[in-house]
Amino acid sequence: AELFAANQKLGAHAKKLSEQIVETRAEVQTVRDENQRVKSDLSIAHKKIEIAERRLWLSIESINDGFAFFNPDSQMIIANKAYLWAFDGLEEVTAGVSYITLLQLMTEEGIVDLNGQAPAAWRAMMLERWQSAAPEPVTIRLWNGEYVKLIDQRGHGGDVVSLALNITETVRYQRDLKEARDNAESAARAKSAFLANMSHEIRTPMNGVVGMADLLMDTALDEEQALFAKTIKNSGEALLVIINDVLDFSKLDAEKMVLHHKPFDFDGAIHEVVMLLHSALDGKDVQIIVDYDLFLPTEFLGDVGRLRQVLTNLIGNAVKFTSEGHVLVRVVGSHDPHSRQTELHVTVEDTGIGIPPDKLEHVFGEFNQVDDAQSRSYEGTGLGLAISQRLIKMMGGDIWVESEVGVGSSFGFKVCLETQNAINPATLKAMVGKALLLEPCEAIAGLTEKQLGKLGLEVVRCATVPEALEQLGADVTLIMADEGFVGHDLVGALEELHYQGRVILLSPHLGGQAQAESTVDVQQLQKPISRHALLEKLARPRPEAESATSTAPAPEPDTDPQSGLPEPPRKMRVLAAEDNKTNQLVFRKMVKALDIDLAFAGNGREALELYSSFAPDLVFMDISMPEMDGKEATRAIRALEAQTGAHVPIYALTAHAMEGDKEEIMAAGMDQYLTKPLRKAEIYAAIGGHQPENVVQVISDDAAA
Ligand code: ADP
Repeated sequence: AELFAANQKLGAHAKKLSEQIVETRAEVQTVRDENQRVKSDLSIAHKKIEIAERRLWLSIESINDGFAFFNPDSQMIIANKAYLWAFDGLEEVTAGVSYITLLQLMTEEGIVDLNGQAPAAWRAMMLERWQSAAPEPVTIRLWNGEYVKLIDQRGHGGDVVSLALNITETVRYQRDLKEARDNAESAARAKSAFLANMSHEIRTPMNGVVGMADLLMDTALDEEQALFAKTIKNSGEALLVIINDVLDFSKLDAEKMVLHHKPFDFDGAIHEVVMLLHSALDGKDVQIIVDYDLFLPTEFLGDVGRLRQVLTNLIGNAVKFTSEGHVLVRVVGSHDPHSRQTELHVTVEDTGIGIPPDKLEHVFGEFNQVDDAQSRSYEGTGLGLAISQRLIKMMGGDIWVESEVGVGSSFGFKVCLETQNAINPATLKAMVGKALLLEPCEAIAGLTEKQLGKLGLEVVRCATVPEALEQLGADVTLIMADEGFVGHDLVGALEELHYQGRVILLSPHLGGQAQAESTVDVQQLQKPISRHALLEKLARPRPEAESATSTAPAPEPDTDPQSGLPEPPRKMRVLAAEDNKTNQLVFRKMVKALDIDLAFAGNGREALELYSSFAPDLVFMDISMPEMDGKEATRAIRALEAQTGAHVPIYALTAHAMEGDKEEIMAAGMDQYLTKPLRKAEIYAAIGGHQPENVVQVISDDAAA
C-alpha cells in the first residue's frame, strides 16, 4: 500500500512534469514564431525602404531640374541626371568631386556664359556665396542660352542640398511680357499723339465752321436760312464738346490725366463759368444764382481748369434740364487756419425735370443718360458726369446727387484745398444803416438779403420804386436794385431827393451804357453777383460831391501808368496775332460790335513790332505762326517789359488741347489760354475784363445783349 501510494504520487508528479514540458514547448514555439515573424517583417520593411528609396530616386532622376547632395566638406555625394547633364559626361564629375572643381570645370569648359566677367572673379563670387550660412539663390546662364536658378540649402550638420531649376521659360516669358508692355506703351503713346493731332486737325477747321456760322447769323437771313445757320453752329459746337469729352475720357482712362495745381480764385472761377453759360439760358425763365459764403476764403491752390470743367458740367446740366426757376450754386466750407486747408462743399441745385430714384447712381456711368436713345430730347454724350466724378476723385474728393422727379436735382461735390489767402477781415468791416432791396427774383433777393445782413445792414425789401422812396430816410446807406426792374426812374427820383447813400444797380451783363451824369453815387454790379465784386463796390470810398458828377461804372483798374491823368478818352487798343486769314476774319467780325482799335499781326515778328508801335492794352496771340511763333514773340515782349515794368495781358489762342501744351504756353509768359474755336463770349469777357480806365466804353448794351 505504501509502495502503491508512492507510485501514485510519482505518477502524478510525472504527469505534472510532462504537462509543464508541453507548456514550455508551446511557449518556445510561440517565441520561435514571433521571432520568425519579426524577421520577415524586418525584411519586408527593408524591402519597403528600398522601394521607397528607389522610387524617390526615380522621381528625383525624372525631374527636369537638377538635384545634388553635398557633404559638409563640399564633396558631391549624389546628383541626378539633370544636374550632371550640364557637365556633359565629364569624367571628373562623379561622387566625391568637390564644389570648387565643379566651378572650375564650369568656367574652363565654357559651361556657364560669363557675359564678359573674368572667370576667377566669377568663381570667387560663387564660392563666397556657397560658403555663406544661407546662400541667396542665384541665376546663371548656360552656354546654350538656358537659364538656371541655383538654390542651395545648408542643413544642420553642414550637408547641402542643391537645386538647379531650369527657369528658361520663365525668363523668356518675362522678356516677352516686357516686350509686350513696351509695345503697348508705345502704342498708347502713339494713340495719345494721334488724339492730340486729331483734336488739333478737327478743331482748326471747326473754328472756321462755327465762327462763320456765327457771323452768318448776324447777317440778314430769312427765317429758313437763319435756322440752317443756327443748326450748323449748334452741330459744330456739339461736335466740339464730344471731341473734348472723348479726349478727356480717354486720357482719364489711360491714367494720363495730370492735375496742375496753382493759386486761383474760386469765386472768380465760378463766375467765369456762369458767364459763359449765360447764352444757354436763351429765352428760358431761369436765373443762375451764386451763393459763395461771405466768410469763406476764395483763394486756393488747385487745378482751376479741371474744377472749372466740373462746374461747367454740373451748372451746364442744371441749365440744360431746367426750363424755369433757378440754378443755385452754393459754396460753403470749413477753413482750418492751422493746416491752411479748407474743405469746400459745392452744390448745384436746380428746379428742373429731376432724375428718377432708380437712375440716380446710373448718371455717373460712362455714356449713361436717363432717357433712352430713342426718346432723347436733350443733347449730350453722357460722359460729362463720368469725367467729373473721376476728376473729383483724383482731387481726393467726392461727388453725389440728390433728386426728385419734377422738383429738381442737386449735384454736390466736396474737395479739400490748400488756402492761399484767408479772408481779409478789413474787406468785411461791418456796415451800418439800412439797405433797400428791389429785386423781383425771390431767390436772388433772399440771397442778397442774407449777404447784406451778414455785413451788418438792416435789409428792407421793396416791391416797387414808390415803395422804396417811401422807406427812404437818412438811415438808408445803400439801395440795391435790379436795373431792368427799376429802369431809370429810381436814379432820377433819388437825384431829386438829393439821396446821399450808395446805389448799386444789378444787371445781367457786362459794362452797360455809361450812366447819364448824375449827382447820385450809382455803381453797377453784374448778375449773378460775385462776392468779390460786391465787397469791392461796398469798400470803395464814397466820391466827393464834386467828383460825384461822373459815375459811369468803372471797369477794373489796369496797370496803364497814364490812367490817372485826365485825358480825353481814347479807344481801347487790341492786338491780335494770327496768321490764318479765315481766323483773322472770324476774329474781326466777332469784335465788330465793340468800340476798340484793332490791329492784326500776321506772325510773331509783326506782333513784336506792333507791341512797340501800337502799344496795345490787350494781346491775343496765336501759338503756331510762321517766322516767329507765339511763344517766342511773348517771351520777347516780356523781355522788353522787364525793362519798363509794364505788363500787357496776353491771351494765347491755340488749337492744341493736350496735356503739357498749356504749361509750356504759360511758361512763355502768357496770362491766359483760350482754345479754338473762339467764342464771342470769351473774347468779350477778355476785352471787357482788361478795359483800362479812361477809354471809351468798349461794350455797349446792344453788343452785350
Ligand atoms: P450729358 O449731359 O452729356 O448727357 P452727363 O454725364 O453730364 O451727360 O449726364 C448724364 C445724364 O444725367 C444726363 O443725360 C441726364 O439724363 C442726367 N442729368 C444730369 N444732370 C441732370 C440734372 N441737373 N437734371 C436732370 N437730369 C440730369
